[in-house]
Amino acid sequence: MKKISKILIANRGEIALRVMRSAREMGIKTVAIFSEADRNALHVRYADEAVCIGPPPSAQSYLKGDEIIEVCKRLNVDAIHPGYGFLSENAVFARNAEKNGIKFIGPSPEAIETMGSKLAAKAAVSKYNVPLVPGVDHSITDVEESKRIAEEIGYPVLIKASAGGGGKGMRIVEDPADFEAQMERAVSEARSAFGDGDVFVEKFITSPRHIEFQILGDEHGNVVHLFERECSIQRRHQKVIEEAPSSILTPEVRKAMGEAAVGVAKACNYYGAGTVEFIVDDKLDFFFLEMNTRLQVEHPVTEEITGIDLVKEQIKIAEGRELPFKQEDLEFKGHAFELRVYAEDPKNNFLPDIGRLNQYVRPQGPGIRVDDGFEQGMDIPIYYDPMIAKLVTYADNREKAMERMLRAIEEYKISGIENTLEFGTYVLNHEAFRSGNFNTKFVEKYFTPDVLKSQEIDAEEEISAVLGAVLVNESAPNKASDNHSISESQWQKRKWMNN
Ligand code: ADP
Ligand code: ADP
Ligand code: MG
Repeated sequence: MKKISKILIANRGEIALRVMRSAREMGIKTVAIFSEADRNALHVRYADEAVCIGPPPSAQSYLKGDEIIEVCKRLNVDAIHPGYGFLSENAVFARNAEKNGIKFIGPSPEAIETMGSKLAAKAAVSKYNVPLVPGVDHSITDVEESKRIAEEIGYPVLIKASAGGGGKGMRIVEDPADFEAQMERAVSEARSAFGDGDVFVEKFITSPRHIEFQILGDEHGNVVHLFERECSIQRRHQKVIEEAPSSILTPEVRKAMGEAAVGVAKACNYYGAGTVEFIVDDKLDFFFLEMNTRLQVEHPVTEEITGIDLVKEQIKIAEGRELPFKQEDLEFKGHAFELRVYAEDPKNNFLPDIGRLNQYVRPQGPGIRVDDGFEQGMDIPIYYDPMIAKLVTYADNREKAMERMLRAIEEYKISGIENTLEFGTYVLNHEAFRSGNFNTKFVEKYFTPDVLKSQEIDAEEEISAVLGAVLVNESAPNKASDNHSISESQWQKRKWMNN
């Protein structure tokens, strides 16, 4: 067992702060790194020491693994916490850190490698009785053979990049006649985006739910799961609202999925925190999608219902300690929601928005947690992920946690930047969401920009009825700001710079 006394956080924004807070409570010193765009960022001010690592683009700063390791050596850092995104799933970086005597807070490089490839992951779990989405479980080389299998499993099918991530590298094929052309495009996209042209085929489950399990494993072979998170509210195959527990799992299905998730982790000798993602169909049959070998954006909802600080557990595992609990010791209580407050415009296809947080007031009070990395007056930089904050609410049941989320959104004041707060109100008031009867098609099925416009009008009418017209201009939620939305192509470019 090797005590960790100083951690470098190889990340920025809310997750860097999140990690530092737990480290501080454990009496561990923290080192921040930052790009020139983040000089005044909260994570820089919070850390005990901070080092500028380069110019704003990620490739010249947060992704400079070798320089980050040099900083660690210079400042006598014991361990690196990679957060999510950036270098968190980079096996080469993890290996180099350890070669230089610095502990990587995460799984082994081998586990990162296996699970970083969706195909290698499927191969690894095949011995563990984990249900897979029907399809072609190897890289497509023979188009005719793949077309035959696609016919067998039935259209629509999904062509997926083995190295894909962040909701990218997927193509739905509805018509067998399009198979070959779509496959060629998928291969060339995968090659340019991920540097790996391997693609495979899965049955496209038309209206699935995305349900994932939180895993913790130690370096002594113990693995437990900390129950599930429901992440079906997505746009562009990426999550916006998550909750724990899922409102549809029965204790039996939860147990079966939990066991499958532990099997996935064991298949790659997993240690650290990780997430096993499944899709679930309307018969509650579940299929393994992939494993994310890092702390997940939406980890707070699990922390709320279990009372376990996942970052502290990650650090203790990295110190070589044994997990302090067994599966049968674990239980959850109450219900938690997370809304990702993104700087993007739901009225304009969720395209990222940029600009200054002219007004930024966080909600407060019982059961509310805001994980963010900004303050009023700060700019949302164009270079990184457009998430402003994660708004998390907790209460003893789903109903109350929903009411609390609606109150929190109302208290949250953001102006100057388009964001997903109002979208949150729409979802949380929607009958399908309230009843728990929804899936990954929710946004496509129910959401159009008009619903927000009419929601705004309703809110304005209500306010003017109560307070008189004078206040309307100030309180109208998210007045359309100046047109500083960025284009889809600029945004794509930014996303890839992040990787
Ligand atoms: P989670 O499953 O935790 O919600 P996401 O898939 O949304 O994670 O990704 C977590 C973080 O990593 C986000 O900041 C996202 O922008 C980034 N990320 C992950 N994979 C990619 C990718 N292939 N391209 C761009 N960003 C990515
Ligand atoms: P990523 O690495 O980009 O997160 P995933 O395999 O986890 O890729 O898929 C992301 C999302 O895409 C899922 O949450 C789900 O909404 C959708 N998806 C993935 N595979 C399928 C499938 N076979 N059928 C239907 N939807 C899918
Ligand atoms: Mg995924």
